[in-house]
Amino acid sequence: MKEFKGKTVIVTGGSRGIGRACCLEFAKSGANVVFTYSKSKEAAGTLEKELLSLEAECLSIQADICNYNQCRNVIEKTVEKFQKIDVLVNNAGIVKDKALVMMTLDDWKQVTDTNLGGTFNMTRATITTLLKQKSGCIVNISSVSGLVGLARQTNYSASKAGIIGFSKSLAKEVAAYNIRVNVICPGYIKTDMVNSLKDKVKDEIIKSIPVNRLGEPKEVAQLCVFLASDKAGYISGDVVKIDGGLAI
Ligand code: NDP
Repeated sequence: MKEFKGKTVIVTGGSRGIGRACCLEFAKSGANVVFTYSKSKEAAGTLEKELLSLEAECLSIQADICNYNQCRNVIEKTVEKFQKIDVLVNNAGIVKDKALVMMTLDDWKQVTDTNLGGTFNMTRATITTLLKQKSGCIVNISSVSGLVGLARQTNYSASKAGIIGFSKSLAKEVAAYNIRVNVICPGYIKTDMVNSLKDKVKDEIIKSIPVNRLGEPKEVAQLCVFLASDKAGYISGDVVKIDGGLAI
């Protein structure tokens, strides 16, 4: 029996990278998968086909996580199709790296509105359903940058550190309702976000990682599935690094 059979999982930013890998891993575990994307309609269509070939029921929805009404629409459509929500993975995120001295208010707002604001919007839109169900699990994707801070990422580090505080506070608030909230802090993972860096920069990054390689999206996805599973039933409010030792 597949562990997530009959369970409904929502993944934000499922069209690419870590979110895409999460959708596939949850589908392999038997889940019904709802995923959102922002612009990548074609990639979303391809993923939908892959999910169907794994015999997963799925629903893809174009929604900007910065827009609360669009997030509510995601939740309404999910409940309409699957009647409940078991897992929310707040994965969608962006970077706009710059030294603070060059950073515009717009750079700051776009990153914090998407990463932290989007996590608030999706979680706020979902929480009433989870409270009524008296069950559910939330996995928020932060970053090592939110733990140790990285130069040229004041906007990103602040948004990712904010996700950690948000998650710990919420974990305390909803524990009595059988709802768990945890955070994953990936290091450098092989996705468009890292692939877009110059080769020279990537080589320097790899040298700084104790295990001497970038992480695979699938490795993060497998951790996400574990944290959302009953095997992690006693883990809540935790922050788990998956970074090849980068933040040691
Ligand atoms: P990618 O850039 O590969 O994918 C980002 C995803 O987020 C896409 O599906 C994108 O949709 C979606 N997205 C972006 N903005 C919005 C928005 N406003 N509304 C809805 N969806 C949106 O990112 P990664 O897979 O690399 O990163 C996933 C998460 O992991 C992020 O939160 C990131 O900060 C975090 N992370 C990544 C690390 C890495 O090394 N890759 C390291 C640490 C943390 P679309 O395809 O339509 O643009």
